[in-house]
Amino acid sequence: STRDQPKSSVAYHSSSLQEAIRLRTRLTAELNEALRTDQFALYLQPQVDAQSGALVGAEALLRWNHPVRGLVSPADFIPAVEESGLASDVFAWVMEEACRILKLWQGRLRGTISLNLSGSQLADAGLATSVMETLRRHDVPAGAVRLEVTEDSLIRDMDAAVTTLRDLSEAGVSTSIDDFGTGYSSLQYLARLPVDEIKVDRAFVQALPGEPRDTALVQAIANLADAYDLRVVAEGVETDEQAREVRRIGCSVIQGFLFGRPAPLEVFEATWLSG
Ligand code: C2E
Ligand code: MG
Ligand code: MG
Ligand code: MG
Repeated sequence: STRDQPKSSVAYHSSSLQEAIRLRTRLTAELNEALRTDQFALYLQPQVDAQSGALVGAEALLRWNHPVRGLVSPADFIPAVEESGLASDVFAWVMEEACRILKLWQGRLRGTISLNLSGSQLADAGLATSVMETLRRHDVPAGAVRLEVTEDSLIRDMDAAVTTLRDLSEAGVSTSIDDFGTGYSSLQYLARLPVDEIKVDRAFVQALPGEPRDTALVQAIANLADAYDLRVVAEGVETDEQAREVRRIGCSVIQGFLFGRPAPLEVFEATWLSG
């Protein structure tokens, strides 16, 4: 058996490593091809005012229409995008598409479109400049987009993050901390960061209504955000009960399946746009 033959075991490991490398190389090639042949799409999910239910914006969520595998979720390819060094190329595509949508729906879409940044982009000193260049080229005002960074990626390089977020916010682009509450950042960072919004991670929202301790945690986040004059979005609201609870706690915006799933442009347009 292989257990008695260390040589073949080494061969096995090395071939599985080679296999992993081969898969990754293929995925990188496929991602490049996807960029070149327009296999990506933005889905939009509504964000509504917690009190009135009126549309206040939308989050753009990337989808990959893979020729063989069909619709691939970002959780399954964003890590490969990062590792392949393609984060800024993919983001450039996302920015172009978002600007196209904003132009197309000018005067009809109420609120901002939020876009997700990859962690590695926080260290990109040219990010704000290239964002502004794209906005200008499409004649879209800076205030029409909002850029989200996860709390997790902020913590990994706080100094670079502060610089990049400051550049963006000085240029008039709104910024947001995504998945807030999961990254264990010190709360004092919140005062230091030039952000306009925090998004309470859906793990907390979906625990509501529940243990008084969980409720107290979301309440503390909402109070802090209020003190710093930040917009608080409750992510992942799926039930009326959760909506009631985050409203009571003081979250200003709700995003979740209860109000709408991420949807292709035509579906979002038919549901949320007037005129
Ligand atoms: P995220 O930015 O936190 O986006 C919210 C995710 O939660 C989305 O998953 C959305 O479909 C899902 N969601 C929204 N409401 C509900 C709900 O009520 N219940 C449940 N169970 N889920 C809900 P999605 O679209 O699969 O995206 C996953 C993650 O992939 C995003 O999390 C974001 O981190 C990343 N991502 C998406 N688009 C992009 C992109 O263009 N660039 C980068 N770098 N990352 C992206
Ligand atoms: Mg997000
Ligand atoms: Mg999130
Ligand atoms: Mg997330």
